[in-house]
Amino acid sequence: MLKHNIMKNEESGFNTKLIHSGGIDDQFHSATVPIYQTSTFSFDSADEGARCFAGESEGYIYTRIGNPTINALEKQLAILENGYGGVAVSSGMAAATTIYLGLMSQGDHIISTDAIYGPARGVMEKQFTRFGFQSTYINTTDVTQIEKAIKPNSKILYIETPANPTMDITDLVACAEIAKKHKLLLVVDNTFCSPYLQNPLDLGADIVFHSMTKFINGHADIVAGIIIPREKAMYDKLRNMMINLGCNMDPHQAYLVLRGLKTLGIRIDRAQQSALEVAKFLESHPKVAWIKYPGLKSHPQFELANQQMKGSGSMISFGLKGGYVASKKLLDNVKLALLAVSLGGVETLIQHPASMTHSKVSAEDKQKAGITDDLIRLAIGIEDVKDIIADLDKALSL
Ligand SMILES: *Cc1c(COP(=O)(O)O)cnc(C)c1O
Repeated sequence: MLKHNIMKNEESGFNTKLIHSGGIDDQFHSATVPIYQTSTFSFDSADEGARCFAGESEGYIYTRIGNPTINALEKQLAILENGYGGVAVSSGMAAATTIYLGLMSQGDHIISTDAIYGPARGVMEKQFTRFGFQSTYINTTDVTQIEKAIKPNSKILYIETPANPTMDITDLVACAEIAKKHKLLLVVDNTFCSPYLQNPLDLGADIVFHSMTKFINGHADIVAGIIIPREKAMYDKLRNMMINLGCNMDPHQAYLVLRGLKTLGIRIDRAQQSALEVAKFLESHPKVAWIKYPGLKSHPQFELANQQMKGSGSMISFGLKGGYVASKKLLDNVKLALLAVSLGGVETLIQHPASMTHSKVSAEDKQKAGITDDLIRLAIGIEDVKDIIADLDKALSL
């Protein structure tokens, strides 16, 4: 038996699973998963082809439907999130839209965090209303608001925690209880944490998804997503929707993600250790008006973050006393941090959500969601922390 199969057992530590649970059983006993860069697969016989299509054989048919490299990644993430299986897709947004289209019907209602990833809200409010989908965006940190928002046609409770870019934390166990009581499906965007820091399925969620563009791949060189449901029925529905929408991943991309994933634990350990130091530096800086980082005691949900997350992550939001003018000056003056959207890579990134990632959200909704004009979002990388701090210190002094 291959080591990969032995290491799938539940007693292995997370980092051991990262290294050993992503294997493949090929004829050469390859140490890493090869890239099966093929669009189609031939059958031994007409009967075998028919069996593959009937789902009676495990044989591969066509890469949009399934591919060994992609499946190795899907299996590994299902292990890491304790789900039934993984459905890899072409982007994090493809994960969100596959969930919307796979699980909602005309007239269904979704309740979601107001400060979620901008486009995931934008597509729901601006496109899917055409198909009769209804939505309510609220501050889910206050779970009583969730119960108030529930309607007879509510189908999905869709949470992002920590929320982007406010770093607000939503109580996942409380959400799971509400979802169960009202027969809603609890969907969690776990991109900001990765399976290393938070496992929503273990806390009672039905479906977890990730933009693998971020921490899971970790090297800012691909765009991809994955959906991991807890149960087979949901997995079958979502897989079928992905196949029909055609938002599958590419085998070469899957290979790169499998490669990046091996170091997820050590990358996050390093980045979050640095993030805490950067957060402390910013908190004591005279020009900083406020800061939100789940690892600081000043975060209003410090306790909750500690309960449901295994670490504080590497995302920081803060505002400057000089407002947007001062923020813009900082963005223009940093040298080491790249002025760029995205996160979870090895390089430190800085951006201004109100004019960048969340620019399509209306002024009123931004204000309600706490996406203020002075908010700066920092994604800490794995450079030497003294250099990250020196860069910010210099830029703040100008
Ligand atoms: C980036 C991101 C997405 C969208 O992912 P893409 O891979 O860019 O499509 C969704 N949710 C969160 C929290 C993200 O950061």
